[in-house]
Amino acid sequence: MTTDKKYSNWLKAIASDKPLIIAGPCSAETESQVLATAKGVKEAGAQILRAGIWKPRTRPGNFEGVGKIGLQWLQKAKEQTGLLTAIEVANPQHVELALAHDIDILWIGARTSVNPFAVQEIADALLGVDKIILVKNPVNPDLALWIGALERIEKAGIDKLGAIHRGFSSYKKMMYRNEPLWQIPIDLKTRFPNLPLINDPSHISGNRELVADIAQTAIQLKFDGLIIETHIRPEEAWSDAAQQITPAYLSEFLQKLVVPKDRIFNPELLKSMQLLRNEIDQIDSELIQLLKARQDKTEHIAQIKFEENIAIYQKERWLDILQKANRNALQNQINQKFIEQLFRLLHQESLKIQHRIFSEKEQTKK
Ligand code: PEP
Ligand code: MN
Repeated sequence: MTTDKKYSNWLKAIASDKPLIIAGPCSAETESQVLATAKGVKEAGAQILRAGIWKPRTRPGNFEGVGKIGLQWLQKAKEQTGLLTAIEVANPQHVELALAHDIDILWIGARTSVNPFAVQEIADALLGVDKIILVKNPVNPDLALWIGALERIEKAGIDKLGAIHRGFSSYKKMMYRNEPLWQIPIDLKTRFPNLPLINDPSHISGNRELVADIAQTAIQLKFDGLIIETHIRPEEAWSDAAQQITPAYLSEFLQKLVVPKDRIFNPELLKSMQLLRNEIDQIDSELIQLLKARQDKTEHIAQIKFEENIAIYQKERWLDILQKANRNALQNQINQKFIEQLFRLLHQESLKIQHRIFSEKEQTKK
């Protein structure tokens, strides 16, 4: 993966100036359910129809997808609505069948992206294929593993790539089905700004009440699109019934979705923004100079400690620093947790510097 590669050309072609919307049922169940949902999501403003054909279920005995026959329903839905179609693929046979049925977008699910062997098999099946491939984050919070899966697909010659953030499994009790851990997709976007990033509020929430809020958060964070499970009768869905929404609700909330602008257009505001940014740059530079001054003192102290043969780590002193910082934070109305974290970092660095000076002095003594 490279920072400046234009992975996003496909996205611009489908949704140039608005968020990309992929919507449709968790699972294709019947032909009429697929066709009616497709019509509904098209009217709501989606550009792509999603549907699970083979479902990765946690426990055996649950509905595992209709299989191959569902691909024909998707083809029919495409003919009737003009929507592009997207399905999950988990092995080379799925890829082969998807290609044979002219599916436009293939995504790799969270239980597959976690496994490099499985991803590599899919990548091999995709060699020379011109399709859009989306990779969901692995179930565990591991950015390197997510990037690794994307890289395997890219190495197969796919440049129409994208990532889907669907949250991360956790054993702790929480309001989400999968914890969002927003920092991880943000880190991905920072490293690869041209890689389209799509949010899946359905699998993060596990609950339709939360879908709109999570989707709005993602759009505020500049995600490029949403994939939303939508079903004509959500309560009767054969999988993920609690998190699916109706096409009517999809339409309503997409109309209310606030999409932040990329730039400020008002020249007055633009000027004050620039001034504020200059001031912040100045403060940042002063902060670094202060840190340098602090480092000089640390080095001086290290020399005295070495000469007097005193331990580098002084517990009482550290607790004293922490206490003062906390008090100071409170007085200045700065988040105490943040200050504590910052000082822990400073202290760690200070210990490192002192260790370095000690070992330098040991070397010259020899
Ligand atoms: C799905 O999209 O229906 C699905 C199974 O998602 P995930 O891989 O994120 O669990
Ligand atoms: Mn689902």
